[in-house]
Amino acid sequence: MIVVDGVSKTFPNGTVALNNTSAKIGEGEFIALLGPSGCGKSTLLRLLAGLEAPSGGQIIWPGGTAEPGDIGFVFQDATLMPWMSAAENVFLPLRLRGKSRSETRDSVTAALTQVGLADFADTKPAALSGGMKMRVSIARALVGSPKLLLMDEPFAALDEFTRFKLQADLHEVWHRTGTTIVFVTHSIYEAAYLATRVLVMSPRPGRVAANITSEVAEGPERRTAADYTAFVKQLSGVLRGVMPA
Ligand code: ADP
Repeated sequence: MIVVDGVSKTFPNGTVALNNTSAKIGEGEFIALLGPSGCGKSTLLRLLAGLEAPSGGQIIWPGGTAEPGDIGFVFQDATLMPWMSAAENVFLPLRLRGKSRSETRDSVTAALTQVGLADFADTKPAALSGGMKMRVSIARALVGSPKLLLMDEPFAALDEFTRFKLQADLHEVWHRTGTTIVFVTHSIYEAAYLATRVLVMSPRPGRVAANITSEVAEGPERRTAADYTAFVKQLSGVLRGVMPA
């Protein structure tokens, strides 16, 4: 369990991005951080990743602090090295941790297989579609078997068909690996489809204003199921409630 305990973040220019926000992240959960643009979702994700330090409060990891390799991060852009093949891109975080190519070959192949790109190991990013580049980015985040996978609107720039496919595949990867995921989105539909729990954030200065557990049944027909539609409606209502009039 990771505990976000009364965390605030004020940037040097005086912008208060987060104000005394708290949340708990349980092992194996798929949490969506849902809120309007600018409410501090990315800031909270960056604090969880240790890329920023909180101005107040604390983030408590089981066992104290996060170790290298505990966290995988996926950004909105795939941020691949254009001169490297898919496999070399996936190997990169392992290389940065001092691992050799030979000892990690199987892990790299397994990560690419997880995201359906086993046949594209030697392909360079320029020859991959936007969705495939994002798959490589996800494989690169998964390759060290992180305890926590943080995703910052990873599908926002993709067309809807690709987005639906990647959402379904990510959900399956989560099922298969049991990785804890925190996924930032401003899409109610995406949050309702993916998450086991949705943390709804208030407008800036952000805080977790509502915490809603999904009761949408698992299954391939989830996107059109009545309980999914009801969850979308519930989240819309909650989001309306936290927005200023
Ligand atoms: P979201 O992800 O919900 O769109 P962000 O966490 O990116 O929101 O940003 C929250 C607020 O903090 C915004 O008003 C943004 O402009 C501001 N902000 C983010 N990063 C910085 C920074 N490095 N310096 C100053 N202000 C920032």
